[in-house]
Amino acid sequence: MALIKCSECGKEISDKAPACPNCGMPLRSEDRGTYNVIVTRENQWFLINPAATITVDNVGKYELKNGSSIKIPLTTGEHTLLFSLGPRKTEAKINVTEDMKITMKMNRTTGEINVTGYKVDSKTNTPNISIGIGGSFFKN
Ligand SMILES: [Zn+2]
Repeated sequence: MALIKCSECGKEISDKAPACPNCGMPLRSEDRGTYNVIVTRENQWFLINPAATITVDNVGKYELKNGSSIKIPLTTGEHTLLFSLGPRKTEAKINVTEDMKITMKMNRTTGEINVTGYKVDSKTNTPNISIGIGGSFFKN
């Protein structure tokens, strides 16, 4: 038996448990809903315009070319998307509860990667995406 960290509440729990005893989060991905997170990169003209890399939860890697969209299937809960393009990195934390849309664009002045998104459910007004530049986080 190994101890793992619950992705929802952060408590250490047995990897054999079907659900977190603390918060009830199902531990097997098949017990959770899977949603499509569409990441769109705004079409922008730059002299050199390489594809950006999106690393999901430190594991899955996706390439995102200028002016294109990719679909990332994610289970319910928190996920971290690290956008990188050369030295520029932006980390976005998303709490997946439904199909979501995320937009990436480069800031022409600073060269930083801007990542924005919204929740369709207008009940919660709290933005569920933190945008970080250089590893630091701030809530918007
Ligand atoms: Zn938990």
